[in-house]
Amino acid sequence: MKKHNFYAGPSRLSDFALKTTAEAIQDFAGTGISLLSISHRTPEFQDVMDSASELVKELLNVPEGYSVLFLQGGASLQFCMVPYNLLDKSATYINTGVWATSAINEGKCFGEIVELASSKDKNFSYIPRGWESQVDPATSYVHITSNNTIYGTQYKSDPNVPALLVSDMSSDLFSRPVDVSKYALIYAGAQKNVGAAGATVVIVRNDVLGKVNRCIPKILKYQTHIEQGSMYNTPPTLAVYTCLKTLERYRQLGGIEVMHQRANAKAQMLYDEIDRNKLFKGTAAIEDRSNMNICFVMNEEFKDKESLFNDFAQARNILGIKGHRSVGGFRASVYNAQREESVQALITAMQDFEKRHI
Ligand SMILES: *Cc1c(COP(=O)(O)O)cnc(C)c1O
Repeated sequence: MKKHNFYAGPSRLSDFALKTTAEAIQDFAGTGISLLSISHRTPEFQDVMDSASELVKELLNVPEGYSVLFLQGGASLQFCMVPYNLLDKSATYINTGVWATSAINEGKCFGEIVELASSKDKNFSYIPRGWESQVDPATSYVHITSNNTIYGTQYKSDPNVPALLVSDMSSDLFSRPVDVSKYALIYAGAQKNVGAAGATVVIVRNDVLGKVNRCIPKILKYQTHIEQGSMYNTPPTLAVYTCLKTLERYRQLGGIEVMHQRANAKAQMLYDEIDRNKLFKGTAAIEDRSNMNICFVMNEEFKDKESLFNDFAQARNILGIKGHRSVGGFRASVYNAQREESVQALITAMQDFEKRHI
């Protein structure tokens, strides 16, 4: 039975990534051994790691002078590793939600944090503007969250700041072109749009490292992982493999421009229905609407029907649309691997539910 999977993360993977990963679990690269049981030091696995980092570079046009890493600990460990490695006296953060707030709180362990802008006043329903010119050039870096998974807001362009720029791109990396040269560091937990849970992609400009004086534990130091090619200790081999296959799929389909067009088209279909349907309304400011996580609620007079709609959708095999508790309502995650057919199934469910209740 076909399920329409809208979970925010871990989320749907392409059939290609699932099938090739399942095969590798049985017999990895013709070795006669499972991917789960083979040493990460074999040439076969080395090839997986090298190909995965090369493909990140190719898909995102990563310039010379940057390293691509596959680490563990999720995006949450990056909330700590970034200030550990880069924060000298103070750093600047833009607060656009729960994840940005966690990053801010971790940063406070390492120095002064300037929260230059925040959208907390309106439950993080928009992206703050006009703060770029107020960045103190002496700040160690500026940290943003490019797509706010819980609130469905997204930066539509890479900000220009007079300091190093760091971005948590956990829920939109590979969905749109990114000018990597504008960033000192980009990170993303893989389980949303890069592959399987357990791996975290980090893209870091080499020359920004080694500037702080504190002692950094070896495993938390980016240079360690750069020197060891992401194999300082045992990497999450299965997760990295699934990332490689997911990225290969993006390349097969035509690369990032194509991913971006598809993401915009799928999101637009759903937003058009939210705006048309008398039962529902979007929660994010229109100009900041994410094309990855689409958040909507029922209009006040129909609020009591939210759980009914959830059941109604579930009966049609539409899964994972319950909104995060801090927003309520619904959230449909439409990452790269989401099928247009599933988006259409959700739209039809919204239309049929409207016919029953209006
Ligand atoms: C999911 C998510 C995180 C947390 O990721 P973990 O890998 O669970 O640590 C952080 N930031 C954003 C934007 C997310 O979507």
